[in-house]
Amino acid sequence: MRLLIASTNPGKIREYGQIFGEIDLETLGLRTIGLDTLVVDEPYATFEQNAIHKARTYAQASGLTTMADDSGLEVDALDGRPGVYTARYAGEGASDQDRYTKLLKELRGVPDEQRRARFVCVIAVAQASGDQVVHVRGECTGRIAHAPGEGDHGFGFDPVFIPDGYDTTFNTLPPGIKNQISHRGRATQMILPILAEMAKAT
Ligand code: IMP
Repeated sequence: MRLLIASTNPGKIREYGQIFGEIDLETLGLRTIGLDTLVVDEPYATFEQNAIHKARTYAQASGLTTMADDSGLEVDALDGRPGVYTARYAGEGASDQDRYTKLLKELRGVPDEQRRARFVCVIAVAQASGDQVVHVRGECTGRIAHAPGEGDHGFGFDPVFIPDGYDTTFNTLPPGIKNQISHRGRATQMILPILAEMAKAT
């Protein structure tokens, strides 16, 4: 089965490719089929609604079984912000470094026990027609560091996120470990058997 991954984010596409290596799926990114020019907004207040909307829209546009996700970071001391606005947290055109630097600034002086946070990832898969959509949610809990960790793995807020069970930031952990425990890794493990069933039926 061919599966369209509705993303142009190279960090995400790389991590999904690594995880989907487990089952016999041919994955394609939006760029490969020239659909990267179709920009689909994430207008909703929940990760679920955004992921479902994206999966359905790209499935209808491509005629392919399509997987879309919506992910972000919820910080308790900020009442769950940036949440569904994580990608836009520091405005249009901001870099990963701009975003995590802004977060560290907002949390300056906040003690460890109030720096709880979680990454959330909702994955939605739409059938080629867009009629049927299934979704799953993975979470990874942890806390926000006081300064960026010195590593060069991962992307986004990885330099400032310390997952539970570790005393170091995500960007210092090898990709294999991150994929096992991350919000995306967990959601992907949940969607794998569903995709395997769909592949069998095609
Ligand atoms: P979206 O899912 O494309 O809307 O983007 C969510 C944003 O959340 C990304 O641009 C990153 O800033 C952040 N994010 C999502 N997953 C991760 C991750 O695994 N590590 C670090 N940051 C992440």
